[in-house]
Order: sequence, then C-alpha cells, then structure tokens
Amino acid sequence: MPFKVLFKPSPEHTGKDLWFIFRDGKLLVRTTGTVADIPISDDIEMLKSRIVISKYLGSFDDISCYAADIDDQAPDVDGMTFTELRPLLSLLDEDLFAVAGRASHILHWDRTHQFCGRCGNRTEPETGELARNCPQCRLLIYPGISPAIIVAIIRGKEILLAQSHRYKTPFYSVLAGFVEPGETFEETVSREVREEAGIEVRNIKYFGSQPWPFPNTLMVGFTAEYESGEIVIDESEIVDAGWFSADNLPNIPRPGSISRRLIDYFISKSK
Ligand SMILES: [Zn+2]
Repeated sequence: MPFKVLFKPSPEHTGKDLWFIFRDGKLLVRTTGTVADIPISDDIEMLKSRIVISKYLGSFDDISCYAADIDDQAPDVDGMTFTELRPLLSLLDEDLFAVAGRASHILHWDRTHQFCGRCGNRTEPETGELARNCPQCRLLIYPGISPAIIVAIIRGKEILLAQSHRYKTPFYSVLAGFVEPGETFEETVSREVREEAGIEVRNIKYFGSQPWPFPNTLMVGFTAEYESGEIVIDESEIVDAGWFSADNLPNIPRPGSISRRLIDYFISKSK
C-alpha cells in the first residue's frame, strides 16, 4: 500500500481518513503496548473545531491523509496520547512514520511562512502545488529541506563513533553535519570529519538516505575509509570519540534511524 503524494484529496470521505494531529509539536497517537497507530476521522470529531491549520498530505490507496495543528489548549482524547515524534520512529509502522514526518515538516513550514520574507505581506496557499504565494510581490515559497550528511568511517575492523553534546541521553553515533551552500555531499563529508574529528577520509560512497523531520532535514548517508590523522575532537560539538570494534560497541542509537543502519552495516561487514 504505497503512499502517494497528491495535491487534491479524493472527493469521497468515509470517516476513515487518517489524521496526523499535532498539539504543541506532539503527535496524537493511540498506543497499545509497543505499537502506535494514527487516529481516523471518526476518532477525532471532537477536535475538529480546535484545528488552527490543516493540510492534505496525499493518500494510501484511497485513504486520504491530513495533517493538522490544533490549539495548545485543546483537550486530551480518551485512549490516545500526544507523543513526541522521535520515539515514534520505533513504535509506528515505517510507512506511517514517513507520513507523520511529512506532516510535521509541512506544518512547521506552513506555520513559519505565513508572511512574505521579501515584502512582509500575508502569504496564501498556492493552488495545485505545495507552496505559498505572496499576493503583493508574487514570491513563491516552497517547503525548505535542509540536507545533512551522516557518515560511517571505517578503519579495518573498527568504526569511528562519537558522543555529541546534542543528546540528553549519552550514546555514541556516527558523525553528521549540515551541507553548506556551494558544497557537494562529498565535500561536506570531508569537511565535517576534518572539523569534528581531525582526520582525513577517502573512498566516500553513498549508502542511503532518510527524511529526518526535526524539523526539516534530509539525512544523506555515506561510508568512508579512514586515510590519515589522529583523532582530535571539536569540543564545542563532541564530548568524546574513538575507534570501536563490533564486539566492543558503546551505547548506540535505537533501531529505525539511518545512523543505526550505518552501524549495523559495519557490524555485518566485520563478521
Ligand atoms: Zn511579498
């Protein structure tokens, strides 16, 4: 049942449409044990009057998917909870998480582009595509996507893992960083690795990618081989970094993220 990006909903409403509802940045889900699900239209009737912004997202076959922001004072719903998006990575079905990410990304963009950045006039939704336009100066505004690289650096039977300042719970992961204007992905990989860990890499190869809707990143994964240098960490970004073998790994990210997929790839290769 592939998700299709469409700009017009099917005219038929069955009450079974999926609603990705956010209150204060948290998504409304029904959780049973370790599984989470997205409410359907019939489940959330009582919240419809609290919707501030709603957007049509696309469809799973004939099931339309909508994103909505409700006001921060809107009430709780029996049997459901408002949950941070990140832990849902391992609780929601993979396809549903992708749509939840799309919903969060689009709502964040819509919320922060109500006014034109060029002339300050109020913007309006553009018909027929996912954009907003400025009726005053005709500026067209599309949702921005920020590309970031993430890279597994391998030296023989070891991988470079680092503990970042960014995370509350301490764990070690592969290096990552945002692409700067004018850079190729490969140049970003070389620069980030040099800046954060003080080493040089070679043989940079594309691995895969993952939308990372916190709030609008696209993670582009690579593998690279260690070439030269000793680890010198950038202390403003990183607490500690080191070379780890597959049988002696520190605390690593949970399954579901591309960082974990890169580390799992390293583990499978070193067997
Ligand atoms: Zn304008």
